[in-house]
Amino acid sequence: MDFYQGNVLRIDMSTCTAKVEPLNMDWARLYVGGKGLMLRYLWDLTEAGMDPWSPENPLIVAPGPFAGTNVSTCSRVVLGGKSPANGTILDSYCGGSFGSILKFAGYDLLIVQGCAAELTAVFIKDDKVEFVPAAKYAGMLTAELEESLRADFDPHMTSLSIGPAGEHKLLWACVSNDQYHKAGRGGTGALMGSKNLKAIAVAGTGRVTVGDARAFLEDIERIDTDYILTDTNYWVHEEGTPVLVDVTDGAGCQPTRNYASGTFAGASHINSEAFKKIRVKKRACYQCTLGCRNFHRINDTEGEGPEYETIALCGSNVGVDDIDALMQFNHLCDEYGLDTISTGNVLGLAMDLTEKGIHDFGLHFGDLEAYLKIPEQLALRTGVGAELAMGSRALAAKYGHPELGMQVKGLEAPGYDPRGSFGMSIAYATSDRGACHMRSFPIGVEVVEGSMPADTLDESKAEFNVTFQNHYAFKFCGIWCDFWAIDYEQMGMLMKHLWKREVTEAEMTQIGERVWNLGRLFNLREGYTRADDVIPEVWLEKPFTDGASAGKVIGTARFNEVLDQYYALRGWDKDGVPTEAKLTELGIDVRL
Ligand code: SF4
Repeated sequence: MDFYQGNVLRIDMSTCTAKVEPLNMDWARLYVGGKGLMLRYLWDLTEAGMDPWSPENPLIVAPGPFAGTNVSTCSRVVLGGKSPANGTILDSYCGGSFGSILKFAGYDLLIVQGCAAELTAVFIKDDKVEFVPAAKYAGMLTAELEESLRADFDPHMTSLSIGPAGEHKLLWACVSNDQYHKAGRGGTGALMGSKNLKAIAVAGTGRVTVGDARAFLEDIERIDTDYILTDTNYWVHEEGTPVLVDVTDGAGCQPTRNYASGTFAGASHINSEAFKKIRVKKRACYQCTLGCRNFHRINDTEGEGPEYETIALCGSNVGVDDIDALMQFNHLCDEYGLDTISTGNVLGLAMDLTEKGIHDFGLHFGDLEAYLKIPEQLALRTGVGAELAMGSRALAAKYGHPELGMQVKGLEAPGYDPRGSFGMSIAYATSDRGACHMRSFPIGVEVVEGSMPADTLDESKAEFNVTFQNHYAFKFCGIWCDFWAIDYEQMGMLMKHLWKREVTEAEMTQIGERVWNLGRLFNLREGYTRADDVIPEVWLEKPFTDGASAGKVIGTARFNEVLDQYYALRGWDKDGVPTEAKLTELGIDVRL
């Protein structure tokens, strides 16, 4: 079979057994791979209302069909399940090499269920699966852990692993691959930790067949030169995401001091120009020609990143403009296995509660000494970290100020305040995993391009979000990297090799829409309703007093009107439930 290996590896941690099942090719045709295929399996493997901490909650690891070939950026992989952070769908992506190596080992999908009696590592080499007691790796930080796994298992292996945060089941613990690549959002590390699974190491000696290799390689070469290494994408290589610091700061939407402002006085100390001065090399995920990764060194700290989200949430949002301290903080989050978006939100909230005199956590904006202790305290749930580990929503509610917790559906917000980019309000509210900038990104047209006004919210923004979400849902079936502005024409050039025929934009759009609707059904099944498609009230009603977006207000009534329009465009009823006609049109075979 070309592109697919035809195999799903099922692992039961409770019995330490593994078996191989054939890939459901009907689902592969309907959902392609990555996000879509993961979601379809997730629906079948879970009962409504399942406790996300239960052993039955599957950790599903799914590459896209092009993983293991030399299509640029496609070694990425999605980790999915029911989110332990908030009970929505969990689909979190990481770069590195795991997706490709899993395919070389012979699998299109890895499904892990159950819970081991003790901390365990799983070693997969082609058709051999070994369960290894992992007491020696307990508490190990991610860099040392990967070195140890290589020494103990196979020098050519790659791995998904958790740091101490995952072992302690922190709600926003992440999973690491090749040290600097993280499946960050939604608690993938907590899900692994709940299974007593420290690491999955994989090595593979197989290959992926593509059919007409000459035609395939010709198209890849053409895509690389004509569509990837172009001005549209090249900013990610030359600058990387730190370039967004000046963009968001200039637009008045950079989270600053727990979103109290959209502009940060210290932005020039932590922007792209500042990071270029400490950049020592560029790096890339396996088989990626874009190579967006910036490797920095300052004093005793070196490593990849931080990316924009880390700079915004763990920099401006907590009042830190010291680039050395920010590098150290990012390094500690990498090593302990923490998502930096949630970490920066929770820390900013705790600082805000302290400075407003609501509760004294001993944390203040810009206090570097306390700041640098936070990653370890959160990961080990010690000191102030024991309480902060409850997350923004619960922490803000506990102290009687839910309006200070900047989250949607319990997931802490990324680095784009909707007051400076109104379309982000609908993007966040309708995102399938809570506050997320990787389902739709209206700030791209509202601020970066300026082709739509940033301070209006109307049906055109609803339509933009629907179109973008469908596009990205399909793109993440691929799984093409977020940083490649790939369009349907380019995806079609590759899909043609997968399906051995021309594939139209309409077909790809429909797959994206199918995936989006299946995610919506999952969240509805788990109890989410229209009442949860909301964003923090301050984003709608409280204008900034400084910066480029000062005085601008979305307004709750306007937001609700556009949410209605969004539902109508999606073919959902007034409560945000997909209609029977829409589900039938999309060929979705499950129902609430
Ligand atoms: S663009 Fe960057 S994150 Fe994306 S696959 Fe390439 S190196 Fe990895």
